[in-house]
Amino acid sequence: MISIADNIKSVSLRIQNATKSAGRKPEDITLLAVSKTKPADAVRAAHSAGLRDFGENYLQEAIEKIESLSYLSIRWHFIGPLQSNKTRPVAEHFDWVHTVDRLKIATRLSDQRPPDLPPLNVCIQVNVDSEESKSGVTLKEVDALADAITKLPHLTLRGLMCIPDPDQSDSELAESFKAVTRATQALQKKHKTIDTISMGMSQDLEIAIAEGATIVRIGTAIFGKRDYSAR
Ligand SMILES: *Cc1c(COP(=O)(O)O)cnc(C)c1O
Repeated sequence: MISIADNIKSVSLRIQNATKSAGRKPEDITLLAVSKTKPADAVRAAHSAGLRDFGENYLQEAIEKIESLSYLSIRWHFIGPLQSNKTRPVAEHFDWVHTVDRLKIATRLSDQRPPDLPPLNVCIQVNVDSEESKSGVTLKEVDALADAITKLPHLTLRGLMCIPDPDQSDSELAESFKAVTRATQALQKKHKTIDTISMGMSQDLEIAIAEGATIVRIGTAIFGKRDYSAR
């Protein structure tokens, strides 16, 4: 039996070591637990071990968990691909969306954000390796989309997010992460709400932290391998 609490301890240690090597502080990194395909019980165990931020990719599954765990204080992050006909439940149930890559999606999220909730925190997803199959804007397109998003009343633009091509060497991955950090720093000069770089997963969190990540999104290293057969 894997213990989620033990896994969180080892991931936290990895984060501590990575921040130390990078001359950064562990408090500057948010550990976002990616609970997609995992049951509400697994989220509860991770919450008991101290985690408060959880990431989900699949809307139906996510909403069931969010509703069944509504008595816990959790920040829910939507990190999956988002189609424009699915924005309403995301605007209604989540605290963050990491995968905004079109103004149409951003506008709908802002329009559909319930007025009694605080603004929805969003990151722009960058397709940093310009992979054809991936969602996300190119680094060149970030600036215009950021300007447009900051005009939307019910969103707060927090930063950039990326999922680099995993079939790269460590040094290539580092270059991809570095490019996203540079782009975030450029945006920060214009937009004061920007404080987030969402990058790094189970395999590469050390590289991401060395290159400036502020949120690492960790699934497998906390919850074990995912079983997609039941989906
Ligand atoms: C599934 C997923 C993760 C977690 O990946 P692991 O390799 O299991 O840590 C992180 N980010 C996104 C966008 C994901 O879809």
